Amino acid sequence: MLGASAADAALLGLLGLLVGSFLNVVIHRLPKMMEQHWAAECADLHAGKEELLRPVAVVEPFNLMVPRSRCPQCGHQIRWFENVPVLSYIALRGKCSQCATPISMRYPTVELIAGALFAWCGWSWGLGWEAIAWCGFSAAVLALACIDWDTTLLPDDITLPLLWAGLCSAGLRLTDTALPDALWGAVGGYLSLWLVYWAFKLVTGKEGMGYGDFKLFAAFGAWFGWQALIPVILMASVIGAVIGIGIKLKGELREGGYVPFGPFLALAGLTAMIFGPSAILAVIGL
Ligand SMILES: [Zn+2]
Repeated sequence: MLGASAADAALLGLLGLLVGSFLNVVIHRLPKMMEQHWAAECADLHAGKEELLRPVAVVEPFNLMVPRSRCPQCGHQIRWFENVPVLSYIALRGKCSQCATPISMRYPTVELIAGALFAWCGWSWGLGWEAIAWCGFSAAVLALACIDWDTTLLPDDITLPLLWAGLCSAGLRLTDTALPDALWGAVGGYLSLWLVYWAFKLVTGKEGMGYGDFKLFAAFGAWFGWQALIPVILMASVIGAVIGIGIKLKGELREGGYVPFGPFLALAGLTAMIFGPSAILAVIGL
């Protein structure tokens, strides 16, 4: 007989695998949806009057639900039994069933990480609204980390709801963060990075990070309280510096020499969730 927390962990872990599968879709499609939206807005802006009156070409809908996932190589539509988290990847030996093009390790990895994070929430809080709140936090932060890594974007569609959810969770006592601490955490998180951004820009003329980073840090302030801001930013900076130097030494720097900061911020946020913000300093050896 499983203990209550082991059963809760198993149940939420399974849910996490399924959510991870959906996160793969979000990570893949949300940046494309944003690009389409920007392109449409630009077209509106530049279109002359006659062009606006002309009937618009019907564009195939593209969102998180449609079209169904396909193999990018041969267009083979992924059937439901090829879309079971992790298991399908193993059954297909990491290849498309039609054309044998390798499927990225990214997919099962995201599913496994989401599963592990959800299981951890179930183990720590048991089945309930608290665990659900932290599962939502984990899913949003995981998606943001991957999207920022791929595209150097942190979509408002995720950062802003994450911020509101943190404030509401504090207000509803789903987190241990008192509402005033959450409020000042959100304000302090945003303002501190905003100040660093402008100071850096005025001194060097370069942009060190983006507005998405401020919003993500503000969200962490809302979830953990202002007290966690310094530990979280220290950890993110240490990991970022180590990995940034590693990438530079390996000569794998991308165009513009830009390493996104969001994934490191995300990693620090998840560490804060698991070990508690105060334990972070010990984790990074300070
Ligand atoms: Zn294929």
